[in-house]
Parts: sequence; C-alpha cells; structure tokens
Amino acid sequence: MNPRKRQPVRGEPRLKRGFLGVFAYSHRALQLVWTTSRTLTIAFAILTLVAGTLPAAVAYVGSLIVDAVVAAIQADPVDRAALTQHALFLVACEGLLVAAIAGAQRGIGLCQSLLRAQLGQRVNVMILEKALTLELEHFENSDFYDKLTRARREASSRPLSLVMRTFGLVQNAISLISFATLLINFSPWAVAVLILAGLPAFLAEAKFSGDKFRLFLWRSPETRMQLYLETVLAREDHAKEVKLFGLGPLFLERYRAIFRKLYGEDRDLTIRRDTWGFFLGLIATATLYAAYAWIALSAIAARITLGQMTMYLMLFRQGQSAVSAILSAVGGMYEDNLYLSTLYEYLETPVDSTRGTIVRGPQPQDGVRFEQVSFRYPGAEQLSLVDIDLHIKPGESLALVGENGSGKTTLIKLLTRLYQPTSGRILLDGKDLREWDEAALRQRIGVIFQDFTRYQLLLGENIGAGDVQHFEDEPRWREAGEKGMAQPIVDTLPDGYRTPLGKWFNDGRELSGGQWQKIALSRAFMRSRADILVLDEPTAAMDAAAEATVFEHFRTLTRGKIAILISHRFSTVRMADQIVVIQEGRIVERGSHEELMRVNGHYAHLFSLQAKGYR
Ligand code: ADP
Repeated sequence: MNPRKRQPVRGEPRLKRGFLGVFAYSHRALQLVWTTSRTLTIAFAILTLVAGTLPAAVAYVGSLIVDAVVAAIQADPVDRAALTQHALFLVACEGLLVAAIAGAQRGIGLCQSLLRAQLGQRVNVMILEKALTLELEHFENSDFYDKLTRARREASSRPLSLVMRTFGLVQNAISLISFATLLINFSPWAVAVLILAGLPAFLAEAKFSGDKFRLFLWRSPETRMQLYLETVLAREDHAKEVKLFGLGPLFLERYRAIFRKLYGEDRDLTIRRDTWGFFLGLIATATLYAAYAWIALSAIAARITLGQMTMYLMLFRQGQSAVSAILSAVGGMYEDNLYLSTLYEYLETPVDSTRGTIVRGPQPQDGVRFEQVSFRYPGAEQLSLVDIDLHIKPGESLALVGENGSGKTTLIKLLTRLYQPTSGRILLDGKDLREWDEAALRQRIGVIFQDFTRYQLLLGENIGAGDVQHFEDEPRWREAGEKGMAQPIVDTLPDGYRTPLGKWFNDGRELSGGQWQKIALSRAFMRSRADILVLDEPTAAMDAAAEATVFEHFRTLTRGKIAILISHRFSTVRMADQIVVIQEGRIVERGSHEELMRVNGHYAHLFSLQAKGYR
C-alpha cells in the first residue's frame, strides 16, 4: 500500500521538514553521546579526522609514484638507480598511509561498538526513568503506548547512528575538500560536476526516508499487536489457555498476517527506493566516465603527466564516492532525526507538575471524605463515578458492594490518586488529596488490587514489595506473612521465604491463585505505617474458611485504622461498619448490614440471593 494514502494517526509527531530538519536533533544526539563517554567520543573524532585526510595523501603519493616510474624509465642508466630507489620509497610511504587508514577505520569501528553498547543502555534507562514519572492514565492510553513502543524499538540505536553519520559526514567532507584542492588544478569545472552529479540520488533518498518514517509511525499499532501476540503465544502464564482453547494456530496466523501486510508495504517502498536509486545512480556513473574521457584526452594532449592522470582519475572516483557518502549521510541523518523526534517526544511527555507538598492534614480525626466526586476516564464517553459523597472516619470499616463495572475499583484509584476526580474533591485529614505530597499520601495507604502483581522474585520479596524500605527485611516478611496467612505456605517450601516464585527463572515455584492472594495480603500488611488499608476482592480465590479467617485478622489488625473492602461475599461484607452499594457509578444505598436489610432494597435482594445459594 502506498504510505501516502494511509490516514495519519493521532499523536503523530510534527515532522520537521526541509534541510534544517536534518539537524534538528543532531546537537542533542551529540550531547547524549558526549555525556555517555567523553574518551570514546574524542577518540572517535580524532580517528575520523585522520581517516578523512589520509585518502587524499594516498592519491597524491600515488601520482608521485607514477611520475617517478615514468622518469626512471626515461632516465639514463646512471640516474636510474637513484630514481628507482625513490620510487620504491614512495611505494613504501603509500603502503604506510594505507595501513594507517585501515588502523583508523578499525579504531572508528571499535569506538562505535563500545559507544553503541553504552548508549543503548543509557537511552533505555532514560526511557524507563521517564516511565516512572508517568501517570497511570498514560499507560492506559493506546496512543501513548504506541509512542512508548516506538521510542523503545528504534530510538536506542538512533542517537549513535546520528552521531556516526555526522562524523562520517565530516570525514567525507574533509576528504572531499582535500580532493577538490588537488582536482581544482585540473579544472574547477571538474569539481562542480563532481558535486552536482550526486544530487538527484540524494533528493530521492531524502524523500524515501520520509516515507519510511511515516510507515513506521502508522504501523505502531500493528507492531504492538505483533509484540502482544508473541507474548501470548510464548509465555507461560498464557500457555494454559492458549493450549486448551487451541488458540495457537489462530493467533499465529494473525501474527503472520500482520507480517505479510507490513512486508508488502516494506517491499513496495524498498523496490521504489532502489529503482529510483539505480537510475539516478546511473547519472553519477555516466559523469564519472565522461570525466575519465576528458582526463585521458588531456593526458594524450600532454597537458598533464601520466602520474597526474592516475591521480585525477583516483580523485574523481573517490571524490564521487565521498559525495555520495556525504549525501547519503545527510539522508540518513534526516531519517535518524525523524526517529529521534519520537524519542524526545516521548521523553518530553508533560507530567502533572502541580504536585502537593503537605505531609500532614489539619484534622487527623476526620479521615477520608469524598465530596460530590465525579469521574470520567480520559477518552471515555460516560462518567464512571457520579456525585459520590462518602465519609470514613479513622477506625471505621467500609465495604463497597456492586456489580462488575459499577465503579468500585475506580473509586479506589481516585482515593490512591492514581487518577484525579473530574469534579468534586477528596479530602484526607481535612486536606484535598491534590495538596498532599504524593509520597506521604501513598505511605498512608496500603492497597491490594484484584489484579495485584505476581513478581517473579523471591517469595519474601513478593511480601517485602509492600514497603520498599523493608524490601529485603526478612523478620518483617515473617511478621507480615503471619498476618496475611502466608506462613503455612512458606512452611511447605524447602527454601521458605527465599523460594523464588513464578516460572520465569530457574527453580521458581508456581503457587495457586488462593496462595498468591495470601502473599498479596501479606504484602498489604507490610505497610505497617499505613492507616488506610484497602482490599479490592483480595479473597475471591480463597476458600470460604480462609476468607473468614482473613477478615477476622483484618479487623483486629486494622483496629484504629480505616479499612475499605470490596467483596462479593456478603458473609464478609456484613461485618463492615458502613456498607455502600454502587450501581452504574452512583451510590444507591448505604448503611450497616442491619439497616440495609431493614430497608429491603438492592442490598437485601443480593444478600438473600447469595444466602439462598448457601442454603
Ligand atoms: P468495578 O471495580 O466495580 O468492577 P471499575 O471501577 O473497574 O468497576 O469500572 C467502572 C467503569 O469504568 C466500567 O464501566 C469500566 O468499563 C470503566 N473503566 C474501568 N477502567 C477503565 C479505564 N482504564 N479506562 C476507561 N474506562 C475504564
């Protein structure tokens, strides 16, 4: 498909057009390379300089050799010995120069590979560091995700490539200037022809680079789908379902189909690029041979010596490859700049800078308050929460009840400031969450979401993750493990808390869903300083007996704290001081179990439904 016919996607970076676009990111790339390793950059620069000047010297010495040989042939026997010796000396000099060029080129290659390794790591770290400062909202936004994928896929190799090309440009420019200085003695026209003949191929190159970049931008969603299919097909946590449902061949076919589509586009572009490249390249070849004829005729007419003829031919030939190297470096730089624009666009994603500062509220006895809170997910049409009013005092427990998708988890995401309310406000200890220092706020809250993370790390570290300051603190793991009922699991494992979990790495142990939940629960108890504990369906995979024990524990351990719990089991829910029923983002009923049963509304209906099931 012709890339120009595709519709542009949202989030497409502004393409810097024109010649200046070529240099838009060059200084930043250079800075990046320079700060990554000064020594290597300096060595790289010096070697580039050396490799740039020596070829002209070789051409010059070459002409001296031919002239010395011609002179020796024509000389009388007395002088011939001296002239022969001189010619041999010049040959040796040329040999040394060529060896020096080879040495410089090796050195350049070496610097490049070392820089590439360091720079790849550096850029990846930059990308990940930026990821740490982003809001959850960014990760849940597909345009943004495309940006991240693009930055990660290409951008780590591009800064070096840009610098290599810049240096290559300088090197070839030096060569070209030195060639031109020698060639101008033959004719200034030769120099002009030399440079002009390369232009058409260059213009074509620049145009196709732009097309290729646009292809790259447009196909991010497809590339991401391909990466995703790879994950589903080749990762342990998906293998079970993929096998049982026989999804493998289907997904693989989709994977192939994406490749075929991308390949088709690539092929068309490459064929066009190469066809144009070939025909425009012919112009350069024709010029070269016209110049050859001109130089040969000049030698026949004895306007130049044989030595000069060889030199001019070599200058013209090498000059032409320097010109095409320069032009393709500029084309490549244009391309690198386009790719780097995606990296910098990602790195410059604005993050909310209105960060609060307070670490303590004026009314600690007030607890958590929601005032007329409504919330709409970015890009969503409907509100997920509507006019929520809630008050939970320290020492109280709150249970949220409602159907799937009614907004319970969203409410928790707002409380933990993963998202900000669209309207209304949430207060903690009498102060708006927006005014709180993020770290201070998060330290007060311990949350286990229903889709908690199963870290492929040690069991103890999975618990320790609840409190970064005690991530590796074994006594604390034990304490939290007791509270979260993980201890019995630990006792069955030979390495106890030091058992690696998950199957990604050697000797990892896989746990059952319920066992994982106990680990997650223990993680919540690691957060001993937190005085707001939130459990979002943490016990759904546990057996009923385990759940009952968990909540007895939970109640004793959270005495004096705020406990918020989301559960579909009414045996658990009924223990909460305050029960809030949410339907389509609105609070429809609230009160204690007894009160709600008396009202005989939605809650009472759901409760009796479940009770019937148990009877
Ligand atoms: P619950 O926890 O009660 O099952 P949620 O709070 O997860 O429900 O979801 C409430 C509503 O918000 C649902 O309609 C859901 O489709 C929507 N929703 C949840 N997460 C997102 C998201 N990241 N982006 C857009 N909409 C979302």
